[in-house]
Amino acid sequence: MPQTSTRIRNLTGGGDDGWAVFYRARAMKAAGRPVLELTIGEHDVATAPDILDRMSGAAQGGATGYAAVPGIAPLRAAVAERLSLSHGLPYTPDNILITPGGQAGLFAAHHAACDDGARALMIDPYYATYPGTIRAVGAVPVPVPAHSEAGFQPDLAALEAAAPGAVSLLINSPNNPTGAVYTHETLTGIARIACGHDLWVISDEVYDAQVWSGRHIPIASLPGMAARTLTVGSLSKSHAMTGSRLGWVAGPEDVIADLINLATHTTYGVPGYIQEAGLYALGLGEAAEARVAAPFLRRRDALLARLQGQTLIRAIPPDGAMYVMLDIRATGLSGTDFAEALLDAEMVAVMPGESFGQAAAGHLRVALTLPDDQFAEAIERLTGFAERLAGGTDRARA
Ligand code: PLP
Repeated sequence: MPQTSTRIRNLTGGGDDGWAVFYRARAMKAAGRPVLELTIGEHDVATAPDILDRMSGAAQGGATGYAAVPGIAPLRAAVAERLSLSHGLPYTPDNILITPGGQAGLFAAHHAACDDGARALMIDPYYATYPGTIRAVGAVPVPVPAHSEAGFQPDLAALEAAAPGAVSLLINSPNNPTGAVYTHETLTGIARIACGHDLWVISDEVYDAQVWSGRHIPIASLPGMAARTLTVGSLSKSHAMTGSRLGWVAGPEDVIADLINLATHTTYGVPGYIQEAGLYALGLGEAAEARVAAPFLRRRDALLARLQGQTLIRAIPPDGAMYVMLDIRATGLSGTDFAEALLDAEMVAVMPGESFGQAAAGHLRVALTLPDDQFAEAIERLTGFAERLAGGTDRARA
């Protein structure tokens, strides 16, 4: 019998893929159990009806054949304009490749940057797919910590120490899982190290429309960075279009030309009717994006208010994205043990910090993705569970 490739067998590094609690929660729900799920980054609302109307109109109108592999011209232009206008980047349509979601953009960007065996740096905690995406192109993921105590801003001294011999650095601001928005100081530090060690920077900015305090600074806008940065974006989070699979990579024209070649030999582009809907969605402007983002800010604030003064569960206030990290080290449990036990005892599903790397051990990631009343109920159950843990097993059983 032929064997599958070493590369595909080792995609998740031999361990699990970090989604065990999520899979168990979904299985419990499928079996009819009323689990309150605060796991993946998925809105509690569907894509807006007017965007869907545009999608269906485009399909009915004939946009069902192969679409241009780099993306349809007006969408490439709209993405270039979005990045140029709101982020001050010097992009034209030739700097943009439309991809089936940000995830495919991350894969393509690493393909462009990394040869086999390349050291590919990534900040830990990280979005759970990152190590597998890096391994999928034959590179070696190297985590560099961002500490809870520093509000999960990357540790620049650790980055400087890890940079020699590395080829690329993957950053993500606003960050999943931590909600950290990298400061100007952090980003100029990263830029200095990237220039000093001739690194590609792959900047995952899929949460750029969800910033609660401070402001989003695209690293490509810093001096000297546009030539070495591949920026990944998506309409998944900004427009509640996760299932449409529509994103992009923005970067130097010659790299985008290579990535178009990769797309020709892999995805062969993105359906035209999805792109037409994305073009319409981008045209709705910032107000539409703010409407999608508003519930996350509201729930973030409610959670922070609920946990104020708590010593057992400490929230690390996020400046963006759709998650809150909770430091539960005072309970004495690991994130994994807490999350597994919480699911069994309270039917509330959250992600263990360990799913996102060692720097998030002893933490939980709470996704702000249930309607307000259910969200409040889930948080009551979570805090009650932690209090019973601290009060001993007798109270926990009561
Ligand atoms: N990057 C980060 C940090 C994410 O959290 C996600 C999805 O949760 C993605 C990329 C993938 O997004 P997309 O749906 O655009 O593939």
